[in-house]
Amino acid sequence: MLEDARTETGAAPIRPKGIPPRPVSFCRECGHPYWPRRDDQEYCSSTCRSKYHKRRYERGAQLYDFAMEWRGKRLKGGFTQLCQIIDEWLRDERERRRAHRKVRDAWLKEKKG
Ligand SMILES: [Zn+2]
Repeated sequence: MLEDARTETGAAPIRPKGIPPRPVSFCRECGHPYWPRRDDQEYCSSTCRSKYHKRRYERGAQLYDFAMEWRGKRLKGGFTQLCQIIDEWLRDERERRRAHRKVRDAWLKEKKG
């Protein structure tokens, strides 16, 4: 399947023949380098794509549950709590980007030799 050219053992993909070369890209989820097989590819594997979307849907559900309880019970301080939830996600995303930069810098450094 073109979607995920990784081998059964999970080894890094080898650029398939007949596919126009694209520059190396870095996975939106794990930050590791990969060679995209499509122009709009954002993830190194279907596992990473699923992980990203799973987190997104879980956060959406968290927001839904919170909003229903907040407005349903007319709870005080809901807006502050809402901001706390979002701030936690933002911290998580910043940490993820920091880890991605480390992976990327290490890869680029190793590539330069
Ligand atoms: Zn990845």
